[in-house]
Amino acid sequence: MNFEAVKGQEKAVHALRQILKSAKIPSVFLFSGPDGVGKRLVADIFVKTVLCEAKDKERGFCGVCSSCLAAQQGVHPDFKMVDAAYQANLRDEEISKQRSLRVDTIRHLRSEMSMEPLMGGWKTALIVDAETLEIESSNALLKILEEPPRKTFWILLSSRFQALPKTILSRALRIDFAPIAKKQVREILAEKGIGAEEALELCAGSAGRALEFSKRENWPGVLTESPLSAIEASESLPKDLPSARREADLIFFSLSENLRSFYHRGRISFSNFEKAAKTIAWLKNAVRSNADPRSSVLLACAEAQKAGLINL
Ligand SMILES: [Zn+2]
Repeated sequence: MNFEAVKGQEKAVHALRQILKSAKIPSVFLFSGPDGVGKRLVADIFVKTVLCEAKDKERGFCGVCSSCLAAQQGVHPDFKMVDAAYQANLRDEEISKQRSLRVDTIRHLRSEMSMEPLMGGWKTALIVDAETLEIESSNALLKILEEPPRKTFWILLSSRFQALPKTILSRALRIDFAPIAKKQVREILAEKGIGAEEALELCAGSAGRALEFSKRENWPGVLTESPLSAIEASESLPKDLPSARREADLIFFSLSENLRSFYHRGRISFSNFEKAAKTIAWLKNAVRSNADPRSSVLLACAEAQKAGLINL
């Protein structure tokens, strides 16, 4: 997939094309915006294009040169994808154990990035969920970003960039990714053969969320049918932590959207809506900062039921 196939991020894509045309690549980028709106996809296209040996600055990478083939297979020696899998591999641990980006990971990355590019062009690191950098890791990263190795560029991806230190933010060129218009999310789903109108209503401009929702037709009704169904929902969360967190996030989102809609339709009072929505927002943040997804989902469902979100 190349630049022209990206839906709903015209501004970000335009800015990146301009950078490619100017041939001046800034050394640090911050791609900011909600989850599931295409940050990683666009970063991937941009990196492949910069590294490509036969790039088209409008269209993107060629897809057939040796650099593109290596990137496609995830084995490009000059393209580091720094995420839970990268860290798990370094530490010889399970992906589910990676709660935050640790300083050893950043130090390792620094040594990898200090070596000359192996394929002759640029070298790049894409740091996924940059808000999960520990303080010590942010400091280590800042040291690199203050004097980035020659011919390297760095892309931080974050849905909560405010959590990053100002010293890092001030060095980065920020590219904002907005929620995607409903019509375009519908097109993205349609391309995958999915037509889920309910998912569209609930997704708030995140194609990633819409895709997740569309896989779970019974949501969120089943979550609040009975106390037992909440227990089932919490127990059916995936075993690995990043997936369990993502799914919990989805449940919180779905519950609060439904509370909102119940309130607007006059089915629950404002004070009930407000109280439950606040608690759920609090639980959502707690899970993002390491609270247990299972018990948090259980509490959120109970809270929504208490507010009157039943028999959807
Ligand atoms: Zn190429």
